[in-house]
Amino acid sequence: MVPIAEYIDGWIAIRPHLPEAILQMPLLLRLLCYFLIADFWHYWIHRLMHQKHVWRIHKWHHSPTHMYWLAGFRATIPQDVIVNLPYLFAWSFLGLSPWWMGLAIGTFNALQNDWMHVNVTWRSNWLEWFVVTPRYHHIHHSDKPQHYMANLAALFTVWDRLFGTYVNPDDVKEPLSFGIGEEVPAVRLALGV
Ligand SMILES: [Zn+2]
Ligand SMILES: [Zn+2]
Repeated sequence: MVPIAEYIDGWIAIRPHLPEAILQMPLLLRLLCYFLIADFWHYWIHRLMHQKHVWRIHKWHHSPTHMYWLAGFRATIPQDVIVNLPYLFAWSFLGLSPWWMGLAIGTFNALQNDWMHVNVTWRSNWLEWFVVTPRYHHIHHSDKPQHYMANLAALFTVWDRLFGTYVNPDDVKEPLSFGIGEEVPAVRLALGV
């Protein structure tokens, strides 16, 4: 997958040239900028995928009827491509960073993806002030109509609070059920068509 991803990256990545003053900022600050910008756009791209005409490329992600740690990797190729665009864009902030930074961020994002889908529902409300937790993201996978546009954030929960898609997990008392509520042939689901 990595060589294929690098090849596609060479074709589609847009990386703005940042002023020297930004590139000279401490690495921690640049990392924060990287995650804030990438995650902000990830939120809006995710929201876009929940609109009628784009939903088909995201359906596969919502098709599991139970949550488990690998559920998050169910993503069609078009979904993977557009979701990763902001991360390519924001990479400019990390242009001058150690060689292992790409590996570290890739690993972090994969683990975050595993973590938010993991099949646990422990109370984690203090963490949810900042980041997405399993029970927070499970609401996003709920098949109840009132949860269709809930908790779209991928990393920072602030976007849901700011843009009106926040559902507090403490307010959801009934057990959740998951899935898309329709039968779609597996091949169509996986291709996103
Ligand atoms: Zn979704
Ligand atoms: Zn998910």
